[in-house]
Amino acid sequence: MISFEEALKIVLENAQYLSHESVKLEDSAGRVLAIDIHADRDMPPFDKSAVDGYAFKRDELGKPLRIVENIAAGYVPKKEIISGTCSKIMTGAMIPAGADFVVMVEDTVEVNGFMELREKEEEFRKRNNICYKGEDIKEGDLLLSRGTLISAAATAILASSGFSVVSVSKAPIVGILSTGDEIVEPDVTPLESQIRNSNGWQLRLQALSTGSAVKYYGIVKDTPELLHKALTKSVQECDITIITGGVSAGDFDYVPGIIKECGFNILFDKVSVQPGKPSTFAVKKAYPNENTAENKDCIIEDYIYGNIDNNSLQQKQNRRTSTVSNVIFALPGNPVSSLIQFEMLVKPYIIRSMGGNYLPLKLSLPAAEDFTRKNAERLSLIPVAINPDGTFMPVRYNGSAHIAAMAHADAIAEIPVGVKQILAGQKATIHIFR
Ligand code: AMP
Ligand code: MG
Repeated sequence: MISFEEALKIVLENAQYLSHESVKLEDSAGRVLAIDIHADRDMPPFDKSAVDGYAFKRDELGKPLRIVENIAAGYVPKKEIISGTCSKIMTGAMIPAGADFVVMVEDTVEVNGFMELREKEEEFRKRNNICYKGEDIKEGDLLLSRGTLISAAATAILASSGFSVVSVSKAPIVGILSTGDEIVEPDVTPLESQIRNSNGWQLRLQALSTGSAVKYYGIVKDTPELLHKALTKSVQECDITIITGGVSAGDFDYVPGIIKECGFNILFDKVSVQPGKPSTFAVKKAYPNENTAENKDCIIEDYIYGNIDNNSLQQKQNRRTSTVSNVIFALPGNPVSSLIQFEMLVKPYIIRSMGGNYLPLKLSLPAAEDFTRKNAERLSLIPVAINPDGTFMPVRYNGSAHIAAMAHADAIAEIPVGVKQILAGQKATIHIFR
């Protein structure tokens, strides 16, 4: 049995990098950037007013000033400000030549074409209400790095940098299979001995949330022939296959054997973690010489820096993206195990395969109350709620089949190997899944 850290390392080292594609900005949400983004101009691109007000010379603060122009945002001022004059100016409009100060319209009165201050001029000296050219960003600044997940803020940066089309990593196709003779879909009334399929639906949503495309293959019976057929189909059609159930030591747990029959190497099949011990990871290295993470990175880098052209890149990458699937994650059937192990192992893999660097947000937070466990041999991942005061509290949780507990959890607490007790006030590492 290997530690969770070793398992994650193996998973990430075996990431099969995907090629790039160009997508429209509106289709880029949640995708991973394939290039660095630099600013093509200063931001703001000109000295601009931060408020609706009047622009003039600072030295003339307090004097009645004749209004010579009304400058709307988007227009170039025509009048230079000279002694005794000001221009009315709107938020975001260009500061006219000769002006170095703006007062807010709310602090002024307009009398017969002149602007006068309402209050004493000392009140206004502190802020000149001008945003200077380049004060946020200078032309050429690195704004977003390759590997960044395209969030709302990243989209704003792309839009303001003039990208209507973006180079992103291709999204992996994730195949999802549930196994078990006892499993039925939600639209079927279960018999006394049956369980509804929750894993398939939950994993589908988890995979979609990474930006992956999903092929949902439904439920496969615990029969070697059917499992072989279903797994073969998924590995042919998808980049990543996730199969749940049938990986433990039961008489009908055929999945590991079938994975091997399909020509995959199992890199681990037991992880010292709870829940999720039987989590299994298998690879089929189609092109062993090119498949190391390092080589894939070099191919992409060569392309980005112009060392190889798009055709060569496609050729190299097409070899990988042919019909051969690369990896299989076989997760335990218990719903909490599959949910947590997706977040802990599968999601980092998916994002890495797109060239991204996913790290869950990890916080060190104090426990709200004492927590004890009987067995401390494995890393424990327990569902917790986070209180408004920043403490965490385990939710009522009966074990890895208790999926209802997850609906009340905000995060997962790590209880390290060897630690049996966390007292109130003691800190633990809390994973916030994003
Ligand atoms: P297994 O890993 O196949 O031994 O399954 C472990 C437990 O998880 C059993 O109680 C199964 O009934 C349950 N289980 C397996 N697959 C699913 C599924 N797709 N949805 C909900 N529960 C499942
Ligand atoms: Mg089963």
